[in-house]
Amino acid sequence: MTDNRIRSVVIVGGGTAGWMAAASLQRHFQGSPLKITLIESSEIGTIGVGEATIPTIRSFYQTLGLSDLDVMRATGATCKLGIRFKDWLKPGSSFIHPFGLFGQDLRGVPFHNYWLRLRAEGETAEIGEYSLGAALAKGGKFTQPSRNPPSSLSVFDWALHFDAGLFAGLMRQVAEAAGVQRIDARITKVNLRPEDGFIASVTLDSGASVEGDLFIDCSGFRGLLIEEALQTGYEDWGQWLLCDRAYAVQSEGHGAPPPYTDVTAQTAGWRWRIPLQHRYGNGYVYSSRHISDDEALRELQASVPDPLLHAPRQIRFTPGRRRKAWNRNCIALSLASGFLEPLESTSIALIETGIEKIKQLFPDRSFNPAVSDEFNEMSRLEMERVRDFIILHYKANQREDTAFWRDCRAVDVPDTLKHKIEMFRERGHFIRYRWEMFQPASWLAIYTGFDILPKTWDPSLDGLDVASLRRGMDEMRKAVRAAVDGAPTHSDFLEKYARPT
Ligand code: FAD
Repeated sequence: MTDNRIRSVVIVGGGTAGWMAAASLQRHFQGSPLKITLIESSEIGTIGVGEATIPTIRSFYQTLGLSDLDVMRATGATCKLGIRFKDWLKPGSSFIHPFGLFGQDLRGVPFHNYWLRLRAEGETAEIGEYSLGAALAKGGKFTQPSRNPPSSLSVFDWALHFDAGLFAGLMRQVAEAAGVQRIDARITKVNLRPEDGFIASVTLDSGASVEGDLFIDCSGFRGLLIEEALQTGYEDWGQWLLCDRAYAVQSEGHGAPPPYTDVTAQTAGWRWRIPLQHRYGNGYVYSSRHISDDEALRELQASVPDPLLHAPRQIRFTPGRRRKAWNRNCIALSLASGFLEPLESTSIALIETGIEKIKQLFPDRSFNPAVSDEFNEMSRLEMERVRDFIILHYKANQREDTAFWRDCRAVDVPDTLKHKIEMFRERGHFIRYRWEMFQPASWLAIYTGFDILPKTWDPSLDGLDVASLRRGMDEMRKAVRAAVDGAPTHSDFLEKYARPT
């Protein structure tokens, strides 16, 4: 039997994606003869943004043997219980999308039906008052979820805000310690095999060349291998997602960092504020069709309350995805494979799932197209699910003040999203397709935050005794408030456990 195993993997790019892939794959193949090489150019550098995550990042680094506190101390991280959306529904509005559940499902009926039932009786409590994650965030508190939750009121999750450069550095340490070879050089040419167009090697600015069986393109937006060499093509989703540029700037940080990402609607897009222990990350994501670069820059500068640490940097992008994340013997990850936009911090999470898919479907040198087709189908579905979730945030706004927000509302959204919204409005039902990154609780947070509500509650609740329902719901809110009162402040938690060493 011929040995057709992949013997060498070459990762191109040393940003968050490249070093996460290197660390994770090296660990996965520990003890095998597979050789992993990462090429990055310190002259070119990395994109330098990407500081807000979702909870899956914690499982990712835990599999590398790192604890939450290891990562927090190494990257100046703060805790993220969710995202606070300000002015999105309309000016003055605010809600939190927490990582976790709202209330308790009872008798197989999802919690929001009980909440709706009581609203019809005049109860005004917001759904966030039944979420421990949202209530902790709102109160500036932080505690780790109980390992043995007495009820779903305790079920919440958390993620990190970290310094992207420090995180990539940490991943590099892990990868190099495990045996990944790093080359600091600029790739000047990608060499294709004449017979089938597969990548044979890359030429470096030193004149040397590096050969490989499998190439992982983590070179950022340009897609040095997947696009510039293999011309894979790109699906532009600009008809649904209008933002295509951002200004990003770091600022000094003062005061208590909130345990959530702040995202605030602006004239022609939205602004992020991400707290780290040593500074803040700020940025304005905007539509170039609706505001000039100069105006966007002025709007961002006027909104950052603390001194800036450098001149704001502009980043341009086309929302969408590479037509194939895997083409021939090249697999693209992260920005090289596509980018929606920064809202809901999905890009690093998609790196994690991309790496998992590479492990699951790791090919041999025959590169059977059935394997890459499966990878591409999974990637397409996953990206489309995330796309729909992001579009919902824009589509559902009720702002009348600028053309941007009116145009977002007028977007003809994909049928998959139309169906989801209709099923929630009609029956309070969450559609869960394969490869959904966001679970029903997240959809519920966004629907309710944007005032999209089912026309009625589950009919099985018609006979419910309203007085006892009210007592039960009051108890739930009291339990949430008591848990928040007993929790330390986020600042105290950081001071005690997570200060950089
Ligand atoms: P990059 O960081 O661009 O790295 C590319 C690498 O390729 C570099 O090492 C570079 O040197 C190398 N390279 C390129 N060309 C060559 C060459 N010729 N030779 C050798 N090396 C080369 N994601 C989140 O999850 N959360 C967020 O909050 C978030 N915010 C974002 C905000 C903005 C405005 C943008 C644009 C993106 C954001 N993202 C976010 C996405 C996130 O930044 C990326 O997913 C992440 O940084 C990974 O980037 P990367 O490694 O693919 O690319």
